[in-house]
Amino acid sequence: VERTLSIIKPDATKRNLTGKIVAKFEDAGLRVVASKRIHLSDKQAGAFYAEHSERPFYGELCAFMASEPVVVQVLEGEGAIAKNREVMGATDPAQADAGTIRKEFALSKGENSVHGSDSEASAAREIAFFFSGLELV
Ligand code: ATP
Ligand code: MG
Repeated sequence: VERTLSIIKPDATKRNLTGKIVAKFEDAGLRVVASKRIHLSDKQAGAFYAEHSERPFYGELCAFMASEPVVVQVLEGEGAIAKNREVMGATDPAQADAGTIRKEFALSKGENSVHGSDSEASAAREIAFFFSGLELV
């Protein structure tokens, strides 16, 4: 069964939306198989988002991700990577479909409540970034 890495971002943890967001995943048939709340340093956020280091919003993105605790989770299910991105909706909440997490909860293109891996390769890298083998059953 496929697995993907999800992050509930600072704008959402701050507004106490973790449960409502997890309910969206579960309603879509995704199972939370690992979960923890952490507070990333700027450096850790920078390493996680290294692929975006040349983008103009990189500094802002890293500072935002390190501004408050986040909840990092591994979600499991058939086609979990694509399904999670469907449930999240478009990066920009103004473009997101009705019923998606970003449509309902995101504040802006930057403060958009959730992250989800975008490929099998990034899911493998991102899961290993946050969870050790011992934490994954
Ligand atoms: P994520 O990778 O977080 O799941 P995504 O794949 O939809 O989101 P990316 O293009 O990978 O979007 O961008 C990573 C993150 O960078 C976005 O989720 C958003 O928080 C931030 N971001 C993207 N574009 C902008 C922008 N134009 N201005 C500010 N922040 C942005
Ligand atoms: Mg992305």
